[in-house]
Parts: sequence; structure tokens; C-alpha cells
Amino acid sequence: MKSKDHDKKSALSETNNPNSSANIGKNAADKIKALRRKKIDTQSLIDEILKGNHTALSRAITLVESEQPSHQAQAKQVIDGCLPHANNSLRIGITGVPGVGKSTFIEAFGNYLINKHQKKVAVLAIDPTSSVSHGSILGDKTRMEELVKQKHAFIRPTASGDSLGGVAKKTRESVILCEAAGYDIILIETVGVGQSETMVHSMTDFFLLLKLAGAGDELQGIKRGIIEMADAIVINKADGENKIPAKKAKTEFTRALHLYPQKPSAWQPKVVLASALKNTGVDKVWKLITDFEKQTKKNNYFQEHRNEQNKFWLIQTINEHLKSNFYQHPTIKKELQRQLQLIEENKTTPFEAASYLLNLK
Ligand code: GDP
Repeated sequence: MKSKDHDKKSALSETNNPNSSANIGKNAADKIKALRRKKIDTQSLIDEILKGNHTALSRAITLVESEQPSHQAQAKQVIDGCLPHANNSLRIGITGVPGVGKSTFIEAFGNYLINKHQKKVAVLAIDPTSSVSHGSILGDKTRMEELVKQKHAFIRPTASGDSLGGVAKKTRESVILCEAAGYDIILIETVGVGQSETMVHSMTDFFLLLKLAGAGDELQGIKRGIIEMADAIVINKADGENKIPAKKAKTEFTRALHLYPQKPSAWQPKVVLASALKNTGVDKVWKLITDFEKQTKKNNYFQEHRNEQNKFWLIQTINEHLKSNFYQHPTIKKELQRQLQLIEENKTTPFEAASYLLNLK
């Protein structure tokens, strides 16, 4: 573990306890306003992040999330300064439908990793619903009350009010900042909506799917792609009366997982029973993840996979950039409306209109 100076007062301090649940609930707009009021020296920010200062890390993530050009420019410098110190963590994606127990599980798992394995755990959340509406599934409730109090935990709710691509970029940059701050376990959580799982899968080393044992056919209604992405399935709430159905679900999922072709990692995904509430099974999940890490580091998949992910994100970033440059251009904004109108009046074809617009700039 790297040094940690979260408690140390510095010029960067925003609050006495930046990781308190009250602060976590504070909305991003307020934080951005606060940043506007107080310009922070970039090098001090980098230095403090590298010391593990919570407040500095929080501030840097707020810069990353800000749309303001001066903040973005500073964010870029901070990321550049942090990059040589990043990459040393295990990035774990966690998904499941609302109510499956993600926050309860992360609370139990995070506390276990900190208390038993002396890890530093950062939790980042991607909430696709908040980019569509302002109602957020992940952000609004009081979550992970115990973990929030841990000195070695950093919890950051979702970057919101943006396209999924934008949220992805912010999350990836936040991962770099957390790693530079010495967090060796990064948990990236998402709800199973839209493309958010694919996105989280493409930025993590290990992908965990949380499921519930339910009545009827366990495999009904599950997006096929998600099972394919999972490195492990945790059947949560395997407690009380639910123990027997959970065992049955485990058998069914294990059977189903064997029907898929071997993964490029050569890892055979496993199913684990857990009760996040009763704190059982988290040690088994950790054992699986460390087995996975050992195996994939030995067969080089771990590093190759990260390289592939970096290439993928390079292309994604270029695509996003080109797209936003195009749509934000004042001429395009105006002409696009006109072409849409012409299409409605049947005076042009979509292809002609697209070609006209693409050649305008
Ligand atoms: P999320 O929406 O996926 O983050 O789910 P939560 O963690 O908020 O959990 C939803 C509800 O399920 C809460 O009332 C939890 O107390 C409950 N819950 C979570 N994990 C377990 C578990 O392992 N066993 C039982 N019995 N209840 C659980």
C-alpha cells in the first residue's frame, strides 16, 4: 500500500471529511461551482493525489467531470501527471439489476478487502439512468454507510448528465486518478441498463454479475451477452429460506456457463453463492478473483487484455471527438435542421443530406 495522508489538512481541503456520506450526496454542479471559485495549482493537486489525499482526488475527479474548457485543460495536466503512477490496480466490474444487492455486496466486499487484506478500495459508479433523466438509480440513496467511513475507501457516485460515451471517458480518467492515489482495488458498478455493462466490461479486468435466485427458469430474461461477459456470477441473498433456491440457481448457471465457448482468457467462469447481508461468500469471490488474476497474468492475457482495452478506447475517444466536433459546429447545427426539414418534405434523401452535411465543414 502506498502512503495515505487523507487526514492531513492542506490548502486543498474542502471539508473535514470529504468522504462522508453527506459529501458524497453533494451534487456535481455545486462542486464545479466551488472549483470555479478557487483555482488550484495543478502541481500541488498532483502531489496531493500521489500522497493519497482524498480531497485532492475528489477535486481532480470533479475537474475531469466538468465541461468547462479551463477545467478540462487542467484535468488533462493532472491526468498526465498521474498516468506514470497508474495501472497498478485490479479493476473489477460489478453489475446486476436494481435491488439485487450491489451496494450491500460492495459494502461487504470492500470492508472485507480493507480489513482482511489491507487493500485500498475505490468505488466508482456508472449510472446510465442519470444521463437520460435526472432520476438516478445508483446515486440517490444512502449507500455503503460503513464503507464510506473507512479511511482506505473512496466512493464516488456516477458522473452524470452526459452521454454514455462521455461518462465512460470520465470514469476511465477517474480510474487513473484513483490508481495514482494508491487504490489497488477499483470497483466499477453499474445497473444493467442499455450498453452500460458492455462499457464497464471494456474497462475492467474482471467482470462480476450479481443475480438472484428467483422462481421459475433462472435463465429466462437474461441478456445473453451479459452471461458471456461474466467471469463470475454471484447468486446473492443466499440466506434464510432463499438458500435452497440459490443452490438450484447455482447449478443451473454453472451448467449454462459450460455451454459457452472458452473465453480468450482461458478462464472458466464460476458461480458463487453469497449473502451480502450476512457477509458470507465474499471471501470465495475474492479467492476466485485472485485465482483469475494469477492465471491470466501467467498466460499474459491480463496485460494483453488491458492493451486491447486501451486500443479500443483510443478509437472510441477519436470517434466521440469527431462526432461532438461535427454536431457542435454552428453551421452543422443550422444545416442539420434544414436537411431534416427537407427530408420531411421528401425533397432530399437521407444519403444525399448526409453527404451534403459531411462535406460542409
Ligand atoms: P442494489 O440496488 O443492487 O444496490 O441493491 P441494495 O444493495 O440496495 O439491496 C437491495 C435490498 O436487498 C436491500 O433491502 C438489502 O438490504 C437487501 N439485500 C442485499 N443483499 C442481501 C442479502 O444478501 N440477503 C438478503 N436477505 N437481503 C439482501
